[in-house]
Amino acid sequence: MNELTINGLTFEPYLKESDIQKQVQRVASEIRASLTTDNPLLLCVLNGAFVFAADLLRALDMPEAEISFVRFKSYEGTSSTGEIKQLIGLTEDITGREVVIVEDIVDTGLTAVKLRELLVSHGAKSVVMAALLFKPASITVGQKPEFVGFEIPSRFIIGYGLDLDGKVRGLRDIMVLKENEK
Ligand code: 5GP
Repeated sequence: MNELTINGLTFEPYLKESDIQKQVQRVASEIRASLTTDNPLLLCVLNGAFVFAADLLRALDMPEAEISFVRFKSYEGTSSTGEIKQLIGLTEDITGREVVIVEDIVDTGLTAVKLRELLVSHGAKSVVMAALLFKPASITVGQKPEFVGFEIPSRFIIGYGLDLDGKVRGLRDIMVLKENEK
């Protein structure tokens, strides 16, 4: 795969589709082993996690697993604004359910903390988080996700659901902003 220039920024190859799929399988096995019921609710945080969530749900291979979608946004362009907006889309009764939050990436951790609190206050039996990507150096609040595909440095990445101003979510591989472009 070659470099890609989008919105005037140049990205280079970072994680290959085949490596991503291996980690999705591993994360799915870990989640399956940790669950105590047959029908967990996966809660996909839109928009970025939709690709990971689709692959994860299928890799879980649990016919009674359910999936639902929620959304809020804390990011604009290539840097976190630190603002969390209102959560929308949680229509299920999650009382007594095992909930697995599915995130594309945990950066500052703000989104994760807010969601966990909210789900616990709605009566979830348990709340765990699966993040395809985790930036340990960026986290300012909360905890490491229970299930992590890759730990990565605090660099801006795109692809496999992750966007640059709404674009490039469909890339099968993950690409990283070149160092000199920061
Ligand atoms: P947090 O609340 O942990 O700071 O941010 C989580 C959200 O920020 C992610 O779900 C994602 O939408 C966005 N984000 C964080 N880092 C990146 C990145 O490197 N690339 C892209 N495209 N989005 C990111």
